[in-house]
Order: sequence, then C-alpha cells, then structure tokens
Amino acid sequence: MTQAPSSAIVIGNGVVGLACAIALQRRGIATTLVAPDQPWRGASWGNAGHIAIEQVEPFASPTLLLSLPRRLFWRGGPVGLPPRAIAAWLPFALKLVRASTPARFSRGKAALGAILAEAMPAWRRLLTDAGATALLREAGHVVVWESVATAAAGLARWRAADTGSARFDMVSPDGLAELQRLTRAPLAGAIRFRGSGQITDPAALGEALYARFRALGGCERHARATGVTGTIGAKVTLDQGIALTADLALIAAGAASAPLLAPLGLKVPLVAERGYHIEGAATDWPVDAPPMVFEDRSMIVTRFTHRLRAASFVEFARAGDPPDPRKWDRLHAHVRALGLSLGEPANEWIGARPTLPDYLPAIGLLADAPAIAYAFGHQHLGLTLAAVTGEAIAALAHREAASIDLSPFDLARFT
Ligand SMILES: Cc1cc2nc3c(=O)[nH]c(=O)nc-3n(C[C@H](O)[C@H](O)[C@H](O)COP(=O)(O)OP(=O)(O)OC[C@H]3O[C@@H](n4cnc5c(N)ncnc54)[C@H](O)[C@@H]3O)c2cc1C
Repeated sequence: MTQAPSSAIVIGNGVVGLACAIALQRRGIATTLVAPDQPWRGASWGNAGHIAIEQVEPFASPTLLLSLPRRLFWRGGPVGLPPRAIAAWLPFALKLVRASTPARFSRGKAALGAILAEAMPAWRRLLTDAGATALLREAGHVVVWESVATAAAGLARWRAADTGSARFDMVSPDGLAELQRLTRAPLAGAIRFRGSGQITDPAALGEALYARFRALGGCERHARATGVTGTIGAKVTLDQGIALTADLALIAAGAASAPLLAPLGLKVPLVAERGYHIEGAATDWPVDAPPMVFEDRSMIVTRFTHRLRAASFVEFARAGDPPDPRKWDRLHAHVRALGLSLGEPANEWIGARPTLPDYLPAIGLLADAPAIAYAFGHQHLGLTLAAVTGEAIAALAHREAASIDLSPFDLARFT
C-alpha cells in the first residue's frame, strides 16, 4: 500500500478498535468495524476508568522482578500465576525477565512517557468531536496508605518514580480527614495526583463512541474475524464463511490479536493478563470523588455515574480459562474491611488485559504485509492510550508522521 487507503476494516470493538475506527473514518477512509459481540463486554468495559498518564514506568523493570515474590496471590498480593496455565505464562515470564534489564526499562520508559504525554490531549479531542466531553473528568486521582510504614515506603517509591506530565502533592491532615470519612479503615497517608483523570461512565463512553462512528458513516459487521491477509489489498475472512476486502485491515482484537498474526508467520508473545472487579450501586461514595488507589490492597475504587467499582489483580492465564472465585472473595473482603457500600448483590466481572512482555503496546504496519496495521497490547493502559492510538493509526494509514515516535511499538521487536 503506497497511497492512502480509501477503505479499511477494523477487527475488534474495544476502546482501542473503536477509537481507531473513528479516527480512520474521520480522515475519509470508509471503515467497517468487525466484532462478534455487543460493545463493551471486554476489558474496555470492565476497567477502572482511570486515565493513568502517570504510569510512565513499564512494569517490566528490575524493581518488579525484586518485588514479585511478595506480590504473589498466595502471599496476599495481586499477582496470580495459576499452575494449570503455566504453558501460557512461563514463556511470557521468561521474555518479561529479558525485557526488565535497566537499559530496556529505560528505553521503555522513554517510549511510554512520550505516548502518555499525548494521551489526555487526544482524549479531549476525541470526546469534543463526539460531543461527549462530560465523560472525561480531569480531576486527578488519590493514592492512600493504611499504615505509617506503608505510607513512608509508598511515598518514597512515588518520589523516586517518573510520573511523566502528572504531578502529586501530599494530602494535608485536613484533606486526609476528609478522605477518612469514605472508609472505616484508618488512613495513615495519601497523595493526590494532578494531570490524571477518569472516564465517568464506561458504558456511556462505548455508546458515545459508537454513535460518533455511525454518525460519520462507519459500517458494522457482527462477526468474528478468522484470518487476515494483506500484501496489496487486505482480505479479512469471517466466521460466517465470507470474506471482506479493503485497502487496509487493522488488528485491534485486544488479548485475542495474536492468533490472527500467527498464520502470517508472526509469533507474538501476547498474554491475557486478567483482572477482576466487583461493582454495585453507588450509595454514599461522593459522585465527584476521584479514583482512589488503596495501595496496600493493590485495589482501585472508582465512582462512575451510578456505580462504584473495586478492581484488582494481575493473573497470567489464557483468556478463556475459568475465573478464580477466590479473587472476587478477596475483593469482597477488602470492600467489607474498608466499610464501602456496593449494594447487594454486587456484580462480579473478569476480563483480560492484552499484555506484551515489555509492557509496551504494538502499534504499526506489518513490513511484509503493509495492508495490515495493528493496535493491541496496551496492557494496563488501553483506556488511557486509546485516543492517541487512534490518531497514530490514522496518521500511519495516510503515510504521515504520527505525533509520537512509533518505532518502539513496532512488532519487529519480537522477531
Ligand atoms: C480490571 C482491569 C482494570 C483496568 N483498568 C484500567 C484503567 O483504569 N485505565 C486504563 O487505561 N486501562 C485499564 N485497564 C486496561 C484496559 O481495559 C485494556 O488495556 C483495554 O480495554 C484494551 O482494549 P482493547 O480494545 O485493546 O481490547 P478489548 O477491550 O479486549 O477489546 C477487544 C475486542 O476485540 C473483539 N475481538 C476479539 N477477537 C476478535 C476477532 N477474531 N474478530 C473480531 N473481533 C474480535 C472482542 O470481542 C473485544 O470486544 C484495565 C483492565 C482490567 C482487566
């Protein structure tokens, strides 16, 4: 493909695929969105809603390796390495270790820092265009600790961390007393970030993005893509036994993206990094309270328009493996210990973050099949990075320079 495409097929209707589909359609490329299910049942619906521009440091780091033993689930931590899924996570873990050298960590941090710096402006542009600016609240977030020791250690960690364009302040004693009214667990310290934010309602975000895509003239196809080829034009085969053709195909199927690339000779080390949430009707949690990270519990609590959600856990497995109910039990126990009210019964949800071993996304065009683009692997930051990824994909499609250097996100790094 040497000229800008006039048509495109986007595979996957998560927040990343949808943001890309809107960006392509807006730039005059007739786009068809292919996905099997209703919008927003995957990770894009169940996430914590946090626009986390402060998470500049990739998890693949020397610090992560040192802290891993005490972060394991059976020791009370968030990291699950289920023995029955060892074939899924062991090869990933070995690659993660290789990606955690100081030099690679430093390069990853520079790459994530550059794309995260554009994340919030890109969301403002996308939601302004969609007429849905109220869905983005730029009021930062709060991190709290429940003991003097964990507050001192946590504060030291954040002071040493690169937080990109986000900044934080210590919460004053008066501010801490205010936060204390939200929970019965004693709070020993807190910091408040500026520059980060939240999506106020993930379901409404999905509806607003779909509405914008349709209003721009985008088409939809309810089907599962089973194969993609793309040397001159792109061809996407569907489980309905037919094929669609276009000038460009974009693989944005989240944690299910790798099997679409395998027949093209690309073995992508993508893992389903599963997270859990419980959620209920928000009662006494203030509607304008920012997302609150209970760092000692590795849990984030987010107030959405009508709901309160508590999310946690990183469980390395296959996307289709059965959930581990002990994780919901632990979330319920945390919520009880904090004295939060979710109403009864709270919904329980599991979903898969699409994660690559160096904790950088994959955004680019395939060198050997240039009619195929890809945008997946956004790990814990898919909501945060969706809008900027859409802009980057539209620029790539038009053979323009993206506003950020995309070379660190090229899949060639795994060949
Ligand atoms: C508990 C939890 C909390 C999180 N919190 C945050 C947060 O606060 N902030 C943040 O930025 N990120 C967060 N994340 C990460 C974020 O949710 C993900 O990175 C993001 O949703 C990934 O989006 P996606 O569009 O790539 O994938 P998905 O949302 O998984 O969407 C992929 C879509 O592709 C479709 N699909 C799959 N296979 C095919 C196929 N063959 N053909 C067609 N369609 C297909 C699926 O149906 C699905 O709808 C969190 C994740 C979890 C699990």
